[in-house]
Order: sequence, then structure tokens, then C-alpha cells
Amino acid sequence: MTDKPKVIVVGAGWAGLGATYQLTKQGYDVTLLEAGAQAGGLVAGWQTEGGRSVEAGIHGFWYPYRNIFALVKELELDPFTPWTRSAQYSPAGLEVESPIFQDLPRLPSPLGTFAYTQFKRLPLSDRLSALPLMYAVVDFDNSDQAWKRYDGVTARELFRQYGVSERLYRESFEPMLLVGLFAPGEQCSAAAALGMLYYFILAHQADFDVVWCRGTVGAKIFQPWCDRITSLGGNILTNRRVSDLQVDESGKVTSVICGEEKFDADAVIFSVGISGMQKIVTSSPALQKRREFRNLMNLGAIDVLAVRLWFDRKIDVPRPSNACFGFDVTTGWTFFDLNALHDEYANETGSVIEVDFYHANQFLPLDNQEIVAIVQNYLASCVPAFKEAKVVDSSVIRLPRAVTHFAPGSYQNLLKASTSFPNLYMSGDWIITNHGSWSQEKAYVTGLEAANLVIQQFSQGNMTQILPIEADEPHIQIARSLNQSLRNMSKALIPNFFLP
Ligand SMILES: Cc1cc2nc3c(=O)[nH]c(=O)nc-3n(C[C@H](O)[C@H](O)[C@H](O)COP(=O)(O)OP(=O)(O)OC[C@H]3O[C@@H](n4cnc5c(N)ncnc54)[C@H](O)[C@@H]3O)c2cc1C
Repeated sequence: MTDKPKVIVVGAGWAGLGATYQLTKQGYDVTLLEAGAQAGGLVAGWQTEGGRSVEAGIHGFWYPYRNIFALVKELELDPFTPWTRSAQYSPAGLEVESPIFQDLPRLPSPLGTFAYTQFKRLPLSDRLSALPLMYAVVDFDNSDQAWKRYDGVTARELFRQYGVSERLYRESFEPMLLVGLFAPGEQCSAAAALGMLYYFILAHQADFDVVWCRGTVGAKIFQPWCDRITSLGGNILTNRRVSDLQVDESGKVTSVICGEEKFDADAVIFSVGISGMQKIVTSSPALQKRREFRNLMNLGAIDVLAVRLWFDRKIDVPRPSNACFGFDVTTGWTFFDLNALHDEYANETGSVIEVDFYHANQFLPLDNQEIVAIVQNYLASCVPAFKEAKVVDSSVIRLPRAVTHFAPGSYQNLLKASTSFPNLYMSGDWIITNHGSWSQEKAYVTGLEAANLVIQQFSQGNMTQILPIEADEPHIQIARSLNQSLRNMSKALIPNFFLP
């Protein structure tokens, strides 16, 4: 081994770029191998042949994304809109409007969320039926034991057990699951539902506040970030699909196989999504020998669809970001007014609207024209002026098996950052971490965690400081500690008899 340990990172999304950047800064010899034509993973953006910017879905950056906001500051970038207000629609029209929560007097969580969210139709009695669920919110502390207790149950069953009204479930909780976990309640793990809802909505009043990139994340963040990595000596290679590993007799990974090429490695970090990892396992005898990697074949991933429409006229869309429910039973969708969000479209004469569908299985086989017609029809249910407008250009991006499916029972097959190989580490938005974050922030944080494990292994360089999520509010801390004491007492009386 030379002075500089050689690290191969596989996959250039938030996780892989996070690991690559930190290790490059600490003087490691890092090569990042990306299967696609550009960095960014699910957040990549690119230009159409006609020179228009498109991306694989619009990405929000929520208030608790502390590590991503710190990175953007360190890179001296200014990519974001101000905090924006959002709305929710059903086929009946406007259902909910959210304020900017941090601008309102702070109430103990989750009172601010309940008091300040403006529900247009949902009766108070339905909203109050959420109160008993607070026990599960307190009981689910993101620990390994909590995941094991709740992961075998569906989110729908959890809400039913705690007496949530049918209307509150259909009009509030399930829409949140469809856009937060990309699946309907009967297909989501209750553990994932509790973790996601707490992180984005319930933990602190401001958590649901969100900013958006003023262009594609690819152009505004990934491109300058990749340039910085390269200027520090990191090596980013695109169009490199990894298929296998070489392992020595002691069980250490010695190289990564990528088509005809072989990259020697002192340590390897995988930063690919579930579908990508399953393809690697399928082609890798080295990984197939390990149970933890074979078991990844039990995991699932979800189809998404990203549609961008250019209209012949400007349509007044009240809020720049909107979530929709009730149009298809198992599909949620969002629409964004890009004239309001993206610098590039601010002066367009017609509206540019992005519409993203989550759990979009039934739409993927349709041809583009059929999809565009459905999308225009749905938009017109929310904002009637879309009915008369003409679509002058469109982009339809199909993303089969693209996002992590936190299905009931999936936790037992997810991986932690360390693996049974002494020098192979995992990162990505599906990796188990006790940090508590989700989505892009989680992917980035797990990349930093994997980088720290490499730094620990070689005792070379400084560990990266990972910002923790904001602490639980005092009343939640007290409730959690009381609950834990009661759990310990009951465990002492009836040890390991009932299902967790
Ligand atoms: C439509 C949509 C909307 C979303 N909205 C939001 C949002 O508003 N806010 C939010 O925080 N999150 C959102 N997400 C989720 C977010 O995109 C992901 O959590 C995050 O991007 C995951 O990053 P990652 O680094 O873990 O994985 P990925 O971004 O999936 O990156 C993995 C990379 O690995 C590469 N790869 C795969 N196989 C190989 C191989 N064999 N060899 C080399 N490279 C390989 C892939 O090409 C990819 O570039 C959304 C996702 C989608 C699809």
C-alpha cells in the first residue's frame, strides 16, 4: 500500500459524492465509478436535445437537512429559493395550505403543525383522532429495537390500531406516505412511516419548511461539487458499471471489476440504490457467497414518473409546490410551478410545470401522449385554467424500480454501513443509521458515515463532523424516558415471550 490508501466509491448520488468529497479532502486516493453518463443519481439533471433542462423529479430540501445546508455553504453556492409555502389538492379542489412554520410563534411539537396547517375541509374531530397516535410516535425512537417492534406492521394497520379516523387517514396520512415513502399505507412499514413523519413533520415546528433548487440540482449543486472534488485530486469516472469484486484469502476486497477494467482498492464504499445493488449481487460470485448480500434480493423498489410540460400561456398557480391525492388509489403526485422556482423559466411566456408521480406502476406502460393527456387533465382538476391551455413541449422520464421501498418486514434485510468484509462499506438512503434523517439528507449523511469508517480503518486524516438532527423537545424526551423505564420494567417481569 502506498502512503495514500486507495478507495473506490461506487455510485455518484448524494451518498457516493459525500463519501468521495470527504475522503479526497483527507488526502485519500479516491476514484468514484458511476454507471450513468453524469453524476447525481436520482437527483441528476440534464438537457434535452432541444436544450431544455429536465431532471428525474423535483427535489425539496427540508428544514432539518442540516448537513446538506452546511455543505452548500462550504462550497459557497447559492442554489436555493427562499422558504416556500405549499398546498395540497384532491379531485374536490384545494384541501390544505401550509404556512412557513418558522415564521409563526413556536409551540411545543406537534401542536404547531396541527394548529397552523390550514385544512380547508377536514373536520376538527377527524384531526383530533390523531392524538392517540402520539404514543407510537414517542415509543418509536429510531433504535434497532423500535424498528424491530414496528417494521412487521403496515402503516395502515398502525393508524387503524390507534383509532385514526378513515378520513384523516385517506386525506392526510396516506398522502404523506405516498409522497414521503412513495407507497400507499398498506405497503409501507409502520416503522418507516413513524420515522419519516417524525423527521419531516412532527419533531419540531419548522421541520416541514422547505426550499427548492433554483434550477436542476445537477447544475446548481452537483456540477460545482464535482468540480471541487476533481480540483482536490478526486477522480470521477462516468459510464463505469461495476459488476463484481475480487477478494483475497483473508476475505479482504482487493479490487472492483467494471467491464474490462479492474480498479485496485484498499477500501470500497458502495453507494448505489437497491435495484443497482441487486444487479451487482446477481453478477457477483464474491457477494453471492455472503448471506447479507444474497438477502438483498428480498428488497423492493418503486416506480416513479417525472413529467415536464411547457404550456402556450402563463397560468396562475397559487403555490409553487403542491401535493395531490385521491386521483389514483395507490399513487401520489406533486406539481411544481417552475416559472416561480427555476431562474431559467422565470421569464418564459408560457407556464412550465413539473409533475412527478410516486408509485407510478400503472402509468409506466402508457405512451408519452397518453401520459401527457392524463397529466393535463389532473392539473385541470386542481387549477381549471390548465384545461384550455395547449401543451407545446413535454418531457416524460420513466424511472422503473428507482426508489427504496420500505415495505413491511424489509428492515431485517437492510444493511448497516459496516459489512462482513473488513474493508467494504455501504451508504445510501436505504442503509441503517441511527442518525434519524431521511431521503437526500440521509443519503449524504450515510456517505459521510462510510467515509468516517474508512478514516477509522486507516487512522489517516480527520473524521468528518456529522451534524446530528435537532434534539427531541424536552416534553418528548421526558415521555420517551418514562416509556423506556416502563418497557424495561415489563421486560423484567415477562422476558421475551410476546412478539416484539
Ligand atoms: C421523483 C423523485 C422525487 C424525490 N423527491 C425528493 C425530495 O423532494 N426530497 C428528498 O430529499 N428526496 C427526494 N427523493 C429521494 C432522493 O432522490 C434519494 O433519497 C436520494 O437521491 C438517494 O441518493 P443515493 O446516493 O442514496 O442514491 P442514488 O441517487 O440512487 O445514486 C446511486 C447511483 O449509483 C449508480 N449505480 C447504480 N448501479 C451502479 C453500478 N453497478 N456501478 C456504478 N454505479 C452504479 C446510479 O447510476 C446512481 O447514480 C426523490 C426521488 C425521486 C425519484
